[in-house]
Amino acid sequence: MRYLIPLLMIMFQTSLSGQICYWQQHVDYQMEIDMDVDTHQLTGTQTLEYTNNSPDTLYRVFYHLYFNAFQPGSMMDIRSLNIEDPDSRVADRISKLQPDEIGFLKINSLLQDGIEVEHFTTGTILEAKLSKPILPGATTSFDMEFHGQVPLQIRRSGRDNAEGVSYSMTQWYPKIAEYDYMGWHPTPYVGREFHGVWGDYEVKLHIDKSYIVAATGYLQNAEEVGHGYDKSKSKSKSERESEGKGKSKSKSKSRKDKITWHFKAPMVHDFMWAADPDYQHVTAQVTNGPKLHFFYIADSATDNWEKLPEYTVKAFAYMNENYGQYPYQKYSVIQGGDGGMEYPMGTLITGHRSLKSLVGVTVHELIHSWYQGVLANNESLYPWMDEGFTSFVSEEVMDYLFEERSEPHPQINHFNAYINLARSNKEEPLSTHADHFNLNAAAVTAAYSKGAVFLRQLIYIIGENNFKAGMLRYFDQWKFKHPQPNDFKRIMEKESGIILSWYFEQWINTTKTIDYGIQSVEGQDNQTVIVLERDGDMVMPIDLQVNYTSGSSQTFNVPLRMMRNHKPLGDMKLADPWPWTYPTHQLVLDIPSDQIESVEIDPGKQMADVNRDNNYYGSHNKKKQGG
Ligand SMILES: [Zn+2]
Repeated sequence: MRYLIPLLMIMFQTSLSGQICYWQQHVDYQMEIDMDVDTHQLTGTQTLEYTNNSPDTLYRVFYHLYFNAFQPGSMMDIRSLNIEDPDSRVADRISKLQPDEIGFLKINSLLQDGIEVEHFTTGTILEAKLSKPILPGATTSFDMEFHGQVPLQIRRSGRDNAEGVSYSMTQWYPKIAEYDYMGWHPTPYVGREFHGVWGDYEVKLHIDKSYIVAATGYLQNAEEVGHGYDKSKSKSKSERESEGKGKSKSKSKSRKDKITWHFKAPMVHDFMWAADPDYQHVTAQVTNGPKLHFFYIADSATDNWEKLPEYTVKAFAYMNENYGQYPYQKYSVIQGGDGGMEYPMGTLITGHRSLKSLVGVTVHELIHSWYQGVLANNESLYPWMDEGFTSFVSEEVMDYLFEERSEPHPQINHFNAYINLARSNKEEPLSTHADHFNLNAAAVTAAYSKGAVFLRQLIYIIGENNFKAGMLRYFDQWKFKHPQPNDFKRIMEKESGIILSWYFEQWINTTKTIDYGIQSVEGQDNQTVIVLERDGDMVMPIDLQVNYTSGSSQTFNVPLRMMRNHKPLGDMKLADPWPWTYPTHQLVLDIPSDQIESVEIDPGKQMADVNRDNNYYGSHNKKKQGG
């Protein structure tokens, strides 16, 4: 008994800690939107049931009013005018918007449990001071009336994009900011990106009858709206052509000639929609997976869009098998926006592309359903967790779809992009807030490429099987939540038995670079002493390949001592662990030096070594060119 009670207490605390440490807020949105396609303005009502699962009492709440970014003088405008390398899609375009082209969201009234709430708006953020604080565990109801104007499409959302899509409706409604263990996130909309509260959305959209709507969520009244939602077969080319003639995005239509589109989306953290009178709507079914919906405007790119479903089905099947089951029954690939942007249960992409580019952007965005859609990391703070992970997996899926094999591994282009950035002196740590990088190019290369390198090097450190099992475990444990970098680290440590804090800390929080070299290879009696040196500040374990004059070779794995373990060795031989403070480390081989042809650090280029010239030693001082 003396032993049992403390033991039980420890077990009790341990089993609870997982639940107590993590909490997340919950929202239930109900919105009714009336869209005027003549003025591009909308009016809406929003009922938001907000549940405070935090241990804190909330005295105020914040809403994002993203459309306000598209006004001359907005933070997004000024940022774009001042940054050295502006996004060409934005450039100075916001500064030139006319009053009927700007975006805005205005709040006509805001009530909390029936009582008016004091609120004010600065830029893209509304702040409401609550007369009735929200206690831990309490649910409160906000009722809002708002009206807005859809901006001319500049970045992501807006009307009349470059490819003629009428409405790309993303970041379009008053959206409550997330409150998590870090506190509030009332991040002004400057460029990138998003963090939202998990919950359920119900949206009723009244819009001119001639428009076809694509959206997050499940359509509740398919038979009423028609447009292919009630049947899965696509229209024939001749049907489309005859329909296309005589069709115009008519301004003469009566405003009363509207129809209601009713969508429900359970457990998502955002809601988007898009609409155009000329959308073709095609569907395809993934076996044991979602039904896919494709919306595009028939034009020169139609042939590629007709081939897209087949690739998308294969990509979903691959993802379900290798990275966890997509948890919704629907996914939409929608022509719209200005490139590609991920949203819950769908994406908006531009459509005038070659087949491979169209498939590439679709694959990238659908993989975001895993990395950010379901594993909803804060995109502003950890863009590498969504863009890096997505880029990494995209390379693998594209190789699979097009039956190609990138050498020496699918991530090699990301390695090269990262190394160029690291050598440029423009690099900032991956932990930099996505909007706070000095250069857009540095932000993009860090999030996408250094993020992809992060995962490929993780394979190098812990081994491929541990990595794959860890990715599935990460999905399983953190789906429908907000994982942080440390949550991912702990899972990979549990899966591999390898301590990884050094890797996460250095790769994410610093710009230290990897450079290992071979200092010397010398014979001593019947042995050979190989001395490795660490020339860069970033530490890594080493795979060292020794090629013998006989033609055979042997790879040695040199773990870091602080890893407290090593990856599964396979054919490799384990060398003494390297205590990282030692600038050099030696391996003694029981082989005379004249039997050694060459020695190479990491010949598979699995480590982003910024200087590979010193990675190779050849006998007779023959030096191979670094690659
Ligand atoms: Zn992306």
